[in-house]
Amino acid sequence: MLSLTKAEKSDIEKKIEEDILALREQIAILEEKVKPIAPDCSLGRLTRLEAMGEQHVNNKILDESRLRLSRLTNALLRVDKPMFGICIECEEPIGIGRMSIRPESVRCVECANNL
Ligand SMILES: [Zn+2]
Repeated sequence: MLSLTKAEKSDIEKKIEEDILALREQIAILEEKVKPIAPDCSLGRLTRLEAMGEQHVNNKILDESRLRLSRLTNALLRVDKPMFGICIECEEPIGIGRMSIRPESVRCVECANNL
């Protein structure tokens, strides 16, 4: 694998910024959706159960989105540093393919699979 070039890093930086904006929007929408369901609402029992199930799913997505947001925010701080794009386990370049899809990666595919 080759180390990331300056141009590649700047493309990745743009992608991180875009992903952060998209995630913030998604989190705001999810936060609205997971607000507690009023006990006296006029929903039928089944609809209420469905709503609770949906809320559970949304809470999970919300947790994952918040986690990814903090990882991306962290990646944005590291993007200019020499160790950005270098695997923390084997110290080999992670590669542009993986870094463009998951810029928050700190491990190469191989090391991530060995976790
Ligand atoms: Zn590795």
